[in-house]
Amino acid sequence: MANPDLSQDKNIYDTVIIGGGPAGYTAGIYTSRARMKTILLESPTISSQALVTDSIENYPGFPEGINGFTLLDSFKKQAKRFDLLSCTSHVSKIIKPSDIPGNIYEVKTEKENYRTYSVIIATGASPRELNIPGEKEFRGRGVSYCATCDGAMFRNKDIVVVGGGDTAIEEALFLTRFASKVTIIHRRDRLRATKILQERAFNNNKICFEWSSTAVKINGIKRVESIELTNIKTDESKTLSCEGVFIYIGLNPNTAVFKELLNMDDKGYIITNSIMGTSVERIFACGDCRQKKLRQIVNACGDGAVAAYSAQQYVDELKGIAYK
Ligand code: NAP
Repeated sequence: MANPDLSQDKNIYDTVIIGGGPAGYTAGIYTSRARMKTILLESPTISSQALVTDSIENYPGFPEGINGFTLLDSFKKQAKRFDLLSCTSHVSKIIKPSDIPGNIYEVKTEKENYRTYSVIIATGASPRELNIPGEKEFRGRGVSYCATCDGAMFRNKDIVVVGGGDTAIEEALFLTRFASKVTIIHRRDRLRATKILQERAFNNNKICFEWSSTAVKINGIKRVESIELTNIKTDESKTLSCEGVFIYIGLNPNTAVFKELLNMDDKGYIITNSIMGTSVERIFACGDCRQKKLRQIVNACGDGAVAAYSAQQYVDELKGIAYK
């Protein structure tokens, strides 16, 4: 018996976008404008990095900078204007269902399962943990990964920031609005962050540095009271009094659920080609979850647009409506 023609089945999405950050919403704007039947699934537990960024200065079009929440909110409003459907749901798996022939994927979530011709993964990346004693115990009681969320609780207090990249320095600068002193603990003797951020940090009299040092333990009784460091050049130990520890030591991609399905690098970033195609046909990946050199909002949006365009071409071809 010949396979039934599923190409006009109203219950099957043209694409399911997984992830509600800049890459996901840009993909959503493009697929909705292309009139692809799309649903965007946002994670109930993972927030976009953009959402917790106080001021974004390098996204073009905003000469004064823009708050991350405001920017993402306008992405969402723009997508809604083109009738993008979205919901909050945790994706557990993508499978090829056995009860239906051919080219359909099923995106499984705890609430519902979504059948689709293509999938766009835009799950981003989440803050990495230090894995030192006291970190888990004092999470929410002085240990934080979000200055925008928690910074105001540290008015006139001494705090530390761990890390030397863009995020650590940007967030340390933001925290000087509240804290009396911000000590940046960095494992090397120079920062990785962009030069302009370095200049601002060096010129800020509330910021000081513990160079070539690693955090080894966070102490306290009910809340954080101090942090222990080791200088890796001299081997000397030191304890700094502080009431807050903000950790910004990079990101881990949110890709664990796709591990069995897609090719990834040794850090778990999804490997894609230039059209955002993954190792599986009609599954695309875009933004911070994919392997690439630079992770910025501007190129997450670019990735999202490319993934949407690629998905559209593949789905049109599959349905036999592609332009020749
Ligand atoms: P990142 O660039 O990977 O920097 C992580 C920092 O943490 C590095 O300084 C690293 O030290 C340090 N580190 C890593 N593991 C550590 C450990 N176990 N213990 C102590 N220190 C550790 O991460 P990020 O700052 O979160 O930035 C992620 C991406 O987002 C980057 O591509 C960044 O450019 C981008 N971003 C851009 C902006 C912006 O453009 N405005 C803002 C935020 C983030 P080493 O330097 O020694 O490796």
